Parts: sequence; C-alpha cells; structure tokens
Amino acid sequence: MEINKNFKQVEDSYLFSTINKKVTAYQAAHPDSNIIRLGIGDVTLPLCDAVVTAMRNAVTEMSKKETFRGYGPEQGYAFLREAIQKYYLRRQVELEADEIFVSDGAKSDIGNILDLFSTNNTVLVPDPVYPVYVDTNKMAGRKIVYANANADNQFLPLPDESMDVDIIYLCSPNNPTGAVYNKEQLQLWVDYALEHQAIILFDSAYEAFIQEDLPHSIYEIEGAKQCAIEFCSFSKTAGFTGTRCGYTVVPTALTREGFSLHNMWLRRQTTKFNGVPYIVQRGAEAVFSEDGQKETRDNIKYYLENANIIAERLRRLHIKYTGGMNSPYIWMECPNNMKSWEFFDYLLEKANVVGTPGSGFGSNGEGYFRLTAFNSMEKTSEAALRIEHLLKK
Ligand code: PLP
Repeated sequence: MEINKNFKQVEDSYLFSTINKKVTAYQAAHPDSNIIRLGIGDVTLPLCDAVVTAMRNAVTEMSKKETFRGYGPEQGYAFLREAIQKYYLRRQVELEADEIFVSDGAKSDIGNILDLFSTNNTVLVPDPVYPVYVDTNKMAGRKIVYANANADNQFLPLPDESMDVDIIYLCSPNNPTGAVYNKEQLQLWVDYALEHQAIILFDSAYEAFIQEDLPHSIYEIEGAKQCAIEFCSFSKTAGFTGTRCGYTVVPTALTREGFSLHNMWLRRQTTKFNGVPYIVQRGAEAVFSEDGQKETRDNIKYYLENANIIAERLRRLHIKYTGGMNSPYIWMECPNNMKSWEFFDYLLEKANVVGTPGSGFGSNGEGYFRLTAFNSMEKTSEAALRIEHLLKK
C-alpha cells in the first residue's frame, strides 16, 4: 500500500490554535482582564423565527407515518432548488432548478468539486484568501500559483497574459479582505477563462452582505455559464454555520473536452453524497420567504453596523483598511509597520482585544490584520473604542 504523501505538503493549521493558546495564556496570567474577540469567523445571532418555525413544522412531519420522509434526492428537494432559482431571478440570472445542487455547505463542495479535475491542472489562488482552496489542492498534489492581492490592486487581483492556469479561485466578497469585484473586473476573469478554457470556481458565501451595486453572482457576467461554477452557503447569510446547508451551481452549458461538468457533478454527488436533512432544507427554504428575507437581512444589518463601528474608529485614526461595507470583515493595515503577529500581541496585551493576523491567510497578508463584525454590538463598540484609545497615543 502507498499513502497519499501529498498530505506532507499541507502544513498543520496553526493559525487559530496559536491564537487560542496565546489568549488562554494571557487570560490565565491576567484573570481580571476582559478580553473581547473580534477574530470570530462564526456567526453569533441565532436562527431567525421563520427558519425555526419551518424546521419545527418539518420535525412534526417527520414524526408522523403519513408525512415521514426517508432518503431524499441527493441533489436537494425541488422546493429548495426552486426557491434558490427564484432568488437568482431577482438579479436577472436565469438558472434551471436542476443546475442547483443543495449540499451541507460550501466548504465540502469546494473540496469535493476537485474530483472533476485532473491533478495535472495548474490552480490559481489569490493571496491572501480562505485557506481551504490551497489545502484541498495540496492534498491532491496540484501545482498552485498565486495571484497577488495587495494595496496596489485594492486586494482584487486581475488576470494577465503571463498567467497559464486551468482552475481559478475567486472569492467575492473576499475572506479575509472584504474586497468585492465589480462587473467589469469579473468580466476580465470570465474572458480570460473562456479564452484559455479555464474554469472559475466562484465562492459567493458572503454575497448577502453586499450593499452597493456590485455583482452577487458570477452568472451576472456574460459568458460565465460556459466557464464558472458557483458555491454559496446559508452559513453567513442566515446563521446556518451549525445547521449546515449550502448550494453549488453547475450550469449545463459548462463542458470541457466533450464532458458535461454538470453531469459529472451529478454523478459524483449521487455516488458519494446522500443529501441534506429534510428538516434543514425546509429551514433553508424559509430563508427565501418574505419573513425569512426580512429577518435574515436584519441580522446582516446588525453585523454590518458592527463593521461600521470598527471602520469609523479606524478612519479617525487614519488607518488604511478594506472591507466592512459589503462584508463582515475588516482588513486593516497594522500600525507603525508592525508585523501581523506583533500587532496581535500588542492588541491583546494593551487593549485586551483579539483579532486574526493577516499573515495566516497568505504571505501577502503579512503586515495586515482581520477584524470581524460577528461579536455583539456592545462588545464590538467597546473593542473599537479600546483600539482607538490605544492607537491614538
Ligand atoms: N467560503 C468562504 C470564503 C468562507 O469564509 C467560509 C466559511 O467561513 C466558507 C466558504 C464555508 O462555508 P460553509 O459553512 O457553508 O461550509
């Protein structure tokens, strides 16, 4: 037997464990300190009423012989796929319901989609970015090249002719930088992909946070159905991080070398996946109801108000940052040329505030720091005030 030695290429994920170790050690040494965490990447508000009511009703259905359901369709129930289809239509994106595949979240699909592609492909990943894109490809042994996201390009790298890549990851709104591509910029990526027969893997997990007139879906861009797969999730939109539900769009128009990627994904999912629980899918469906939309938007507004509170303090300090406006993330430049971990320690010790060092998201993240809007408004306001007091000295 031979083991997959590519796992040697995947570094241990030290980022969040190191943060936790440092915070625990600090708390133990300073038991009276009141530490506020602005590093949280998870939601904190509970599921909204519309979702909870729908899930309760689904539980009741499951408790009766007449309405009990066993295995469902692997690719999701029609009621949810059609609700998602209508959601896309609001932005004039026309999809067939069967082009939408319901799953237990974007992370699984982002990893699993790689079953469709040869390990000989070269992958383009922005730096910095959500680490799952890099690690899943390292595990499979693919060659990875990086697109530099930095202050010069507002953390939104664009294609150039020197690139020779087959699979392109885009995340907009971006984790960790909060930057969002506009239509013209995404059109450049789609044109590149069409010209080079590459595939774009578009992660729109944070689309519901977009407030400005910016694309929520890659399919708002002409030609995208011939070159892009889109991943989305109810996690940050509707607080499903623990409930687990997402969806992936694989258009029937997407083909390479005579293969339909849609048919391949259907075959992959029906072989290796047995569907999302009925109760969860009913909850997800309720996100698109009138009440569900209002309640989830209220929660997003709450988080964005937190982001604005942080951003306002940074503006007063003349600290450069991106994000916050269309995303729950604020990506700030560390003051006084501090390195990411240096600023982490300084903020923890002097203000008892915890964030995430930017260097944990890629080498271009060095010298940057991610703050998130997912804590309570009270704690976020307090933390932002502490940051202002500390840094204006
Ligand atoms: N994509 C991005 C950019 C994320 O930041 C996250 C979660 O933090 C995910 C996907 C994962 O989403 P899910 O909870 O649906 O697996």
